[in-house]
Amino acid sequence: MFINKDYIEDILRNAKEATDEEIKGILQKARDFKGLTHEEIAVLLMTEDEKYLAEIFEVAGEIKNAIYGNRVVIFAPLYISDYCVNNCVYCGYKRENEFCRKRLSMEEIQEEVKILVSMGHKRIALEAGEDPVNCDINYIVDAIKAIYDTKQDNGEIRRINVNIASTTVENYQKLKAANIGTYILFQETYHQPTYERVHPNSLKSNYEYHLTAFDRAMQRGIDDVGGGVLFGLYDAKFEVLGLMLHNEHLEKTFGVGFHTISVPRLKKAEGMDLEQFPHIPDDATFKKMVAIIRMAVPFTGILLSTRESAETRRELLNSGITQISAGSCVGVGGYKTAEDQKKVIQFELSDHRTPTEIIKSLIADKFIPSYCTACYRKGRTGDRFMQLAKAGTIHFVCQPNALMTLMEYILDYGDEELLATGTAFIMEEVQKIEREDIKNLVLGNMKKLQEGQRDLYL
Ligand code: SF4
Ligand code: SF4
Repeated sequence: MFINKDYIEDILRNAKEATDEEIKGILQKARDFKGLTHEEIAVLLMTEDEKYLAEIFEVAGEIKNAIYGNRVVIFAPLYISDYCVNNCVYCGYKRENEFCRKRLSMEEIQEEVKILVSMGHKRIALEAGEDPVNCDINYIVDAIKAIYDTKQDNGEIRRINVNIASTTVENYQKLKAANIGTYILFQETYHQPTYERVHPNSLKSNYEYHLTAFDRAMQRGIDDVGGGVLFGLYDAKFEVLGLMLHNEHLEKTFGVGFHTISVPRLKKAEGMDLEQFPHIPDDATFKKMVAIIRMAVPFTGILLSTRESAETRRELLNSGITQISAGSCVGVGGYKTAEDQKKVIQFELSDHRTPTEIIKSLIADKFIPSYCTACYRKGRTGDRFMQLAKAGTIHFVCQPNALMTLMEYILDYGDEELLATGTAFIMEEVQKIEREDIKNLVLGNMKKLQEGQRDLYL
């Protein structure tokens, strides 16, 4: 198996012996966008020297800036079922929590989607607990179709990333046929003894079956997969190394690693006590982990949810994060009424701002919020996407798409203040587009958007 606990522990132990020379070489390699091997990553993980820590953040910031510029992709989760046969000790949806569970009907899903669309969202992460009876693959596939079919005024959801339990090759084939964006699955923890302890007596207890989910998904043509760990279940350094070994395995076997990596940090949920989790990383450690992931896999998107506070999210945008959620509800049917949000939710949130508040604050910080969903619709997925990213040419489409989708957001969902400040900001940013032909194309498209056309992308 590509993850071996003793091997990871050895690598971390040996990494303590790294010389100054070696650390400097690794920092330079990262600075050159070459990515890092897991042995090199281990050296950075074990580095505690203040001067190198400062450099880690500096290099991560440089990489973020050079590859992603000031763009930030926006998404929202959509929970459609909280039925779950598993008993993950850290989750509000675990089966031993007694509450009235719900699975949305197709009509209810469409109602939720209309609300999400009226908040300006174009990209969602579809979320559901694991329950082969109440929430089987056919229900998920029907939900995906219902979401893509929903229109609301000028908007619609254009990319559905799917976060459902590890499943069979046949089911992955159905997801692929349903035209999903990224298939997301968090390993939660790569440390097998911890994995087995926090996932007792359930379908999810099988560590290897969970770990090999992306292999099955990729065998059936899903070439954008999104990994992640739940920081707090076990030692953060071990988890980052586990993630990187998983990524190397996918690269070696399928020619492409993670499309995205999510970095959720454990939060309070119904029926659990945070005191039972001694490995929750403090802010400084968490930020260091994000920066090291940025350096290790420069072309992989890193996602941060509203679990984190507005302040932490803001800070991490400078050292690695490329996608953030906005206006999230993590309860089934939660968007429909505020009342529903009083139900059991999967975990607690920290950033409660509306999407418009988040967009305004991003623009004030000179970030371009992007609702772009172009790549998978243009067939830029898997290794094709990675080649464009590594060659640096993806930038020529990301920047215009970010600006055009932001204009669409402002025209359809912005208030007067955003219309004024946002439009001025967009025009400033258009002037920074290096290629004249692209700049002119974008200026033409801005006019078309103002005249009422929608969904323009490269
Ligand atoms: Fe179920 Fe997922 Fe929660 Fe585990 S983490 S109890 S699988 S919803
Ligand atoms: Fe993402 Fe592709 Fe859009 Fe760039 S162009 S933001 S990589 S979907």
